[in-house]
Amino acid sequence: MDGCALLPVNSPGHLPSHHEVTRFHCHSDSEDEYVIIELEDLENLSVAPDKRSSFEPGSNSAEATAQELCRAFRKYWLQTDSAVQLSDCLSSSKQRSVRKEEIPRELESSLNLAEEIKIISKLRGSSGWSPPRSQIIFNIHPSVKRDAVVAAQNFTCVGCGTPIESKYIRRLRYCDYLGKYFCDCCHSYAQSSIPARILSKWDFKKYYVCNFSKHLLDSIWQHPIFNVSCINKTLYTKSKEMDRVREAQEQLFHLKKLLKTCRFAESVLKEFEQVPSHLTEELHLFSLDDLVKIKRGQLLPLLKDILKSSTSHVDGCELCQAKGFICEFCQSADLLFPYQTAKCKRCPECKTCFHKACFKYGGCPKCLRISARRTLSETPSLVPQ
Ligand SMILES: [Zn+2]
Ligand SMILES: [Zn+2]
Ligand SMILES: [Zn+2]
Ligand SMILES: [Zn+2]
Repeated sequence: MDGCALLPVNSPGHLPSHHEVTRFHCHSDSEDEYVIIELEDLENLSVAPDKRSSFEPGSNSAEATAQELCRAFRKYWLQTDSAVQLSDCLSSSKQRSVRKEEIPRELESSLNLAEEIKIISKLRGSSGWSPPRSQIIFNIHPSVKRDAVVAAQNFTCVGCGTPIESKYIRRLRYCDYLGKYFCDCCHSYAQSSIPARILSKWDFKKYYVCNFSKHLLDSIWQHPIFNVSCINKTLYTKSKEMDRVREAQEQLFHLKKLLKTCRFAESVLKEFEQVPSHLTEELHLFSLDDLVKIKRGQLLPLLKDILKSSTSHVDGCELCQAKGFICEFCQSADLLFPYQTAKCKRCPECKTCFHKACFKYGGCPKCLRISARRTLSETPSLVPQ
């Protein structure tokens, strides 16, 4: 077989001084609103030096890598606040974008190949090859001619660095996740759904990926690292299933908080364990596995069941009822709870609940009382001391 040899990789002369990923880069692309996240030198941090010469199938390097990736992702970038706007996410990611793109995002086929190679080798260093970066890719790769991509790869397999003779270029295999070509040792025609295609087009079709990507994607599959509100809000309008899940999720989020304060709610809280806890403790946050289940219609019925048990508990529980709000605008006896997202409006300042129809901005009775008290205490007394 040709193209099988793995290039030796120089081991670093010393062990990394720390194992935590401390550098984290966000690239944002204002044109298509996708973001690429890279962990620079992650391989150095998470893979033992003696194992760096190959990415063997079955080795757990992808798993370890993915865990580091998820941890760093959560720590540095993840937005879990329901109020976060896409623009905020993008602008904050711009602030962290401290490094220039290393590889041109789109290679124009008209560009002279030799020039491209010069650019690439200048950018990537003279050694020409480094192992694929563990990264969560949020953009769909534009379709670029095979020759141009392989030239940009410096005529080597991206997975192992083996030089590719031009007569073998057509035998290289494309990885839809990384958008690069691989030799037959590094690419075994494994298939996977692609996060970017799911998140931008609600496309769950399987595409060919290299062995490295297959391991990486399998490893992150269960991790809740995709904040749909941040990455692509339009998914909620594009997919009815997603929108219904979002509604149920918001109600369950508030219900769980309420139930946790009730000593009679133990059994109903048990029902929440049918789904991963992030689904009822965070808003907009999903794993790839969640998204697949939503698409298949497997998740919503579960959420609806939990919702039903929870609301019937609250309706019949004295302790929970005691925590309901009376709308101070209309003073009706109708109790309000934050989970009643269809009829309840919370004051953005003091979080008190009111009927949506009754609430007037700037007129919240509780906020007015608070500010009146403050004014009173700050006004100097007119009574002579
Ligand atoms: Zn290879
Ligand atoms: Zn209760
Ligand atoms: Zn009211
Ligand atoms: Zn208020």
